[in-house]
Amino acid sequence: MNQHLNTIVELQSALQQLREADKRLHGIPDWMRELHEEHTVRKSEIDALQEAVESAGQERRTAEAASEDIQEKLKKYQQQINRVSTQREYGALLQEIDTVKGQISGFEEQGISALERLEKAEKELAEKREAFRELADRYATELARWEGEKPGVQRQVEELETRIASLRSSLPRNVTAMFDRILERYPAGALAAVRPLERPGRLQREWHCTACNYRVRPQSVVEIRNTESLVQCDSCKRILYLEPAEAL
Ligand SMILES: [Zn+2]
Repeated sequence: MNQHLNTIVELQSALQQLREADKRLHGIPDWMRELHEEHTVRKSEIDALQEAVESAGQERRTAEAASEDIQEKLKKYQQQINRVSTQREYGALLQEIDTVKGQISGFEEQGISALERLEKAEKELAEKREAFRELADRYATELARWEGEKPGVQRQVEELETRIASLRSSLPRNVTAMFDRILERYPAGALAAVRPLERPGRLQREWHCTACNYRVRPQSVVEIRNTESLVQCDSCKRILYLEPAEAL
């Protein structure tokens, strides 16, 4: 096979490895994906309960404070009763007292209902936290394992990047341009292996592109083996190469 094609095959494989290493570095690894999802769901349930506890607590405190303020007001009105001199003033004051009492019982009800919600959410939160503990421990262990793997993967990424740069620089500009153009169209790979079709009884071997299955002319196979030019699949335009067993 021609020398550039060997380099391109190496480049393609290095790019593939880089993609996998990048995925390992930045994505959730496959072995902890399920655990991660379960952890995320349970964690968000707990966060929501935590929030419910806090907002019920806040509501209760607000209602209690409002009720206390109004109790003060009520006390003042009750003290005034002894000092009123006219029937009209007395009636007006009684009405004020009624209003204030109504407000107090409203705030008290609000406080009780907030307390009930608070207690229910607190109980549920405690149960969920208890159930979550084992999962959280397991998750922390796996997370530490993942973090432990990262420096090695990071080194691998750097080595691959250096190798890719050096492979690229050893290729003529028109070859890298062609490779990149095809790669843009097929991000999974710009290359396709050519393989013989299994057709017992036929005298001449027939070949096909393993990416798109299109037939590859025997002349093209000869060219891939013996010439310096790169051969593209007639159909998908990927650069064709022969696997080691067929390359001789
Ligand atoms: Zn093809």
